[in-house]
Amino acid sequence: MDKREVLKNKFGYADFRQGQEEVIDAILAGKDALAIMPTGAGKSLCYQIPALLLPGVTIVISPLISLMKDQVKALNEAGCPAAFLNSSQNPAEYAAAMRSITGGEAKLVYIAPERLQRPDVQRLAESGALSLVVVDEAHCVSQWGHDFRTSYLEIADFIRRIKPRPVTAAFTATATVEVREDIRQHLALRKPFAITTGFDRPNLSFAVSRAKDKKGELLNFLAKREKSSGIIYCATRKLVEEVCAMLQEKGFSATRYHAGLEEGERRKNQDDFTYDRKTLMVATNAFGMGIDKSNVAFVLHYNMPKNIESYYQEAGRAGRDGAPAECMLLYSGQDVKTNEFLIKRGDDDGDVNYELQAHNLELLKQMTFYATSADCLRRRFLSYFGEAAPAYCGNCSNCLSEYDEADVTTEARKIISCVYRLKQRGRSFGKTMIIDILRGSKSEKIMSGGFDSLSTYGIMAAESAQKTRSIFDYLIEEGLLIQEAGEYPVISIGVGVEEVLREERRLVMKLLRKQPDEKASPRAGGVNPGEAATPWAADDEALLEKLKTLRKKIAAQESVPAYMVFSDASLQDMCRKRPTSLAQFSAVTGVGQIKQEKYGEIFTALIRGHK
Ligand code: ADP
Ligand code: ZN
Repeated sequence: MDKREVLKNKFGYADFRQGQEEVIDAILAGKDALAIMPTGAGKSLCYQIPALLLPGVTIVISPLISLMKDQVKALNEAGCPAAFLNSSQNPAEYAAAMRSITGGEAKLVYIAPERLQRPDVQRLAESGALSLVVVDEAHCVSQWGHDFRTSYLEIADFIRRIKPRPVTAAFTATATVEVREDIRQHLALRKPFAITTGFDRPNLSFAVSRAKDKKGELLNFLAKREKSSGIIYCATRKLVEEVCAMLQEKGFSATRYHAGLEEGERRKNQDDFTYDRKTLMVATNAFGMGIDKSNVAFVLHYNMPKNIESYYQEAGRAGRDGAPAECMLLYSGQDVKTNEFLIKRGDDDGDVNYELQAHNLELLKQMTFYATSADCLRRRFLSYFGEAAPAYCGNCSNCLSEYDEADVTTEARKIISCVYRLKQRGRSFGKTMIIDILRGSKSEKIMSGGFDSLSTYGIMAAESAQKTRSIFDYLIEEGLLIQEAGEYPVISIGVGVEEVLREERRLVMKLLRKQPDEKASPRAGGVNPGEAATPWAADDEALLEKLKTLRKKIAAQESVPAYMVFSDASLQDMCRKRPTSLAQFSAVTGVGQIKQEKYGEIFTALIRGHK
């Protein structure tokens, strides 16, 4: 078989996605590889296909112990012999896995980095049976990444001892230059074929809501997405508990996950979610790496994460199967303060790395710009990842909202003057207080401080608080005002204000006309032209429900998660193509030879019977 035959025969896909073929070719040609691809882009196939084609064994080093069992199960289901070695196995299971590897049966072996030092793994490595070493989640090797693991630093040493040295391929979704360099160096990659694929995920829609009442917004959001499977990320364990309890009380099928729970409960809750026994997962960011559930319809962030990278990685867990999915961020100014506090707290020993801290604060600033921007959100994060994008994507809350271009030079001058006047009095305040002064608030703090005597007091009383705030954020983003990072994020004067004050520079920005249209639903659109490109008619909804019920029944019989039988994208494709023969069935995305043989009859029978 060649790579295309493996793609269709084992995995059921007709075309490669962006970047996959190039990485596969490089590995098959004996080159090292460094592939940076966003979550859900399809990194696994980039090494699974070579692993099946190369002689000998491929080792996949991954920190995701909880995921290995499912990954191996899915591979075996597709007719790809695989095994795993990690601490979750009892000695008998471990020995059986080891035998299947040394016996030449398993082509792919998933292994935790901590296991590399074991003598039997060393012997395997030295036996000459290894043709490829894959380092998954390779950013774990970098302290600039968000998941640094010391055990990853030993990987290079492990590879060095293998003779002849196997091809080494590293994969990650983290794109920053620092992380990329660390991966090259710490893994000692040899002139790797490096590729960074587009970070866009067209099937995902993005939205930000400035939420005053987050609980209310969440309930509102969920009410419109009944039965959809989704993840709700909260910043703290306490919030996870609170939000999950509230949802359960309101009758939602919700479960929770954070590092403070017992291992047993964590595993159970994760399984409940994976197997669709619970539709909502409320979690801290401890939940995620290791979640392979491909039919997550939305990811809602209850709090703003600390950087765009984490946000995109977490949000990217929606719609991995290519079906339309939503990413929603509930933003409040408090989230910025909380993150600053966490960044400045230092590590557990109280040690502070100031260089790293400054770096992290800068990343937080970029995230805040994303959350407060009026520009296309997709373009925002794509440009953060160094990619050009059109100014309008039509599938984010900013593109779907109506904005007016407005000249805000006058308002800007008022705001800047107010900061000046306060400075003259030797005072500096945060954003909220300054806006209160501008809007002529009669709060205790303002009256007792005598700020009502400032010439700028009340000069923006006629504007809405939301508009004033938007302009304020815009000035910060433009660098005209500076928001200090710290316990008290006071505002000071930035660069270039003189031109604005003298009206030599006009400031034009987008201001919201009305709230995003709630009814606007995400566009249907797959990652590939061939995938999930056209939406389906209302009639198909009924068929889709039937297909889902059948999938659920089969999944229960086989004790596998439903998405492992077929992804949502596969079921939607069945609705579109309506295959009634086995030959037609094999054209459905995600249907390989084994799935066709196993499920073709029963699914086509259902479709034939559907009126
Ligand atoms: P990543 O590891 O990059 O987050 P995965 O390897 O888990 O992504 O792949 C995400 C999903 O995309 C999986 O459901 C996978 O089966 C699917 N997929 C991968 N490659 C293709 C392809 N060429 N065509 C259609 N679906 C694909
Ligand atoms: Zn957009």
